[in-house]
Amino acid sequence: MHTADNLTFSDIQAAAQRIKGHAHRTPVMTSATANALTGAELFFKCENFQRIGAFKFRGAFNALSRFSEEQRRNGVLTYSSGNHAQAIALAARLLKIRAVIIMPEDAPVLKIQATKGYGAEVLTYNRYTENREEIGRKLAQERNMTLIPPYDHPDVICGQGTAAMELFEEVGELDVLLVCLGGGGLLAGSALAASGLSPHCKVIGVEPELGDDGRQSFRKGEIVHIDVPDTIADGAKVTHVGSHNFAVIQKHVADIVTVSDAQLISAMKFFAERMKMVVEPTGCLAAAAAFNQVWPVTGKRVGVILSGGNVDLQSFAQFIS
Ligand SMILES: *Cc1c(COP(=O)(O)O)cnc(C)c1O
Repeated sequence: MHTADNLTFSDIQAAAQRIKGHAHRTPVMTSATANALTGAELFFKCENFQRIGAFKFRGAFNALSRFSEEQRRNGVLTYSSGNHAQAIALAARLLKIRAVIIMPEDAPVLKIQATKGYGAEVLTYNRYTENREEIGRKLAQERNMTLIPPYDHPDVICGQGTAAMELFEEVGELDVLLVCLGGGGLLAGSALAASGLSPHCKVIGVEPELGDDGRQSFRKGEIVHIDVPDTIADGAKVTHVGSHNFAVIQKHVADIVTVSDAQLISAMKFFAERMKMVVEPTGCLAAAAAFNQVWPVTGKRVGVILSGGNVDLQSFAQFIS
């Protein structure tokens, strides 16, 4: 297996070959209103239209396609309450691999049902008293299953990088690429894609204001841990970036900036009203940075990754009302 230190653009190309015909090639959208608002030329890569509603299917499918015969027989295991759970469950079903997903017992019933609906076995744990990483490791060992974590894994990083790769292939080189940052799978993969297809492009990570562990880590040169941040960007509620991810980020990312929950909500409204799209709060991080010039974009050609669209309608209605 590769370690993150020697990942290159060619690994993103290999991942693109593996997911071809299985993941959607999502549309790139533009908006004259957004361009007028920012004075930039914005290209939105719409992963809200990806299978399972978020880019996570790319990394999951790439990782599972690399399993040996023996790994396939024994199955895959992961922990996630969000999009990665569904991504692994669907990819496993398509590849006929058994999947076990460890989810918090108080996760939304709908999410647990969706994951079971893809044929995965769901095991629950108490998120206040038990450690999911420990449970995952122990169970993987007992059952001889392969653990595929949500972001800290080279094959996951490379799969996620295929979204930015498609964007560059479609619109050519860019001055800036804005990417949301949770554990760093999407950001690290996107930066590797840029290194091959648009080497002068500045790749910028965008985090919630209250969960700026990535920015702190970037500044300090080592991974900083924080408490679970309080933000509506649930896909970015992580306490620290992954170590494989951080190695790539340090090498290929230009900067990390933050946006507020209020800025996320106003971006959600913009996409609903002007572009007729449902984008989940975490999916709005990169766009909010552009709309508010948190990273200056005027006069530039700018890629913006909309990472996902999974938000239940009741919350969505509350956000946009
Ligand atoms: C997981 C996720 C993120 C964060 O991605 P990382 O690879 O962990 O940085 C952002 N947006 C959505 C919609 C997600 O599901």
